[in-house]
Amino acid sequence: MAMNIKRPNGTEDVLPKDVYKWNTIEKIARDTAESFGFSEIRIPTFENTELFLRSVGETTDVVQKEMYTVKAKETEFTLRPEGTAGTIRAMLQNGLLNEALPQKVFYMLSCFRHERPQAGRLREFHQFGVEMAGSPAPSADAEVILLAKTLLDRLGLKNIELHVNSIGCPECRAKYHKALREYFEPHKEELCDTCKERLVKNPMRLLDCKSPICKEIGKDAPVILDYLCDECKDHFEQFKSYLAKLGVDFIVDPKIVRGLDYYTKTVFEFITTEIGAQGTVCAGGRYDGLIEQLGGQHIPALGFGMGFERLLLVMDKQGCEYLTPKKCDIYFATMGDAALEKAMELVKGLREFGYRAEYDLMGRGVKAQMKYANKIGAVYTMVIGDNELNDGKARLKEMESGEEKEMLLNEKFTANFENEYFNKILDVIDDENQSMFAFTGEDK
Ligand code: ATP
Ligand code: MG
Repeated sequence: MAMNIKRPNGTEDVLPKDVYKWNTIEKIARDTAESFGFSEIRIPTFENTELFLRSVGETTDVVQKEMYTVKAKETEFTLRPEGTAGTIRAMLQNGLLNEALPQKVFYMLSCFRHERPQAGRLREFHQFGVEMAGSPAPSADAEVILLAKTLLDRLGLKNIELHVNSIGCPECRAKYHKALREYFEPHKEELCDTCKERLVKNPMRLLDCKSPICKEIGKDAPVILDYLCDECKDHFEQFKSYLAKLGVDFIVDPKIVRGLDYYTKTVFEFITTEIGAQGTVCAGGRYDGLIEQLGGQHIPALGFGMGFERLLLVMDKQGCEYLTPKKCDIYFATMGDAALEKAMELVKGLREFGYRAEYDLMGRGVKAQMKYANKIGAVYTMVIGDNELNDGKARLKEMESGEEKEMLLNEKFTANFENEYFNKILDVIDDENQSMFAFTGEDK
């Protein structure tokens, strides 16, 4: 019967032929975060719905339209639409915030939002993100941005603009909300239904509306930077001067308000124009009230989330290089059961030393086995049959050059193979003067 069950709209399969791209981002992200002193955290895929209502905010798109809320037996849960709420919840619940501050964690996880699927906008997507808890200082804002920037650079991304803004504290926000209400009130009837509600409950959300009409109306709306209190203003100035000192270029962009309610003071986005409308590859900021909002002490926090799928779109578009997957180092083509058993024994030793070693599992003839070895890109092959078993030696063939070398099938096999393998690498370095740990383009 033909398989006719397809994956749900807005989800993606990552096939073995592409997974090295994900591995590249994961490895570089992990290394970068660790070099900044962040440790990994893993949290559940679903949480109590209440967590997101209290953190992300009831008037946001995420909560109003995008959450996957499921009822299992009598209890209701929501698949995490983002990583911050769950991470802060875990830090609180496990007492991490009672330990030495700042606490610095990073995560790589999938998020779920019921959005209209399009390039760079999925219903299940993946984020790398960091959270730092404990520091109110603008140096922390600069540090978190430097981490994101360092990662983007290490991935080889170009032409990504950093847009920064400050959306102040609740005090400056109150004055700003008043100004926004006065500005939008005369246009009330033209606003979309959601924005009519936002005007009452959360006017800053109006600036985040994706409807072209609301966008047009909001074009000349007052900007938050004119309403910052002295403390928020100083914080923003100091933050910008750290960025400048660190050599991180940025653009002050008062339009950035972010799509989640928990932000205060610094907000930022890394934006590219190269992948269409979904150009924000990384977004984050400070959320000084969030921990308290979730029942903790008053501990300031900040962080960002970076979307893997969007990163990959840009990396592919820009021809960025990926860490290449390891191919089969050696494939044993065998004739007969005794030869197969010999191959099993040799492979065991090789694998212990980290080589990728394989043999026939299909019961094919030698010719078909060699064809398979070619297909999987085996670097070396070795044919073993009755003659080789009797002689106690076989020929190691280097597939690219076709060169062959006799090797004993004894307990020194792994060591001898290692020697051959290492010499080949040295030859490659001599010949092409390229690094032994070379990055190569994706089509190689
Ligand atoms: P957008 O304005 O594009 O909807 P957002 O403000 O909802 O983004 P955040 O909640 O800040 O996004 O998420 C951080 C990052 O996660 C985004 O910058 C983006 O890279 C990625 N992201 C968010 N939503 C999606 C999605 N539906 N599909 C793929 N990536 C996403
Ligand atoms: Mg969104």
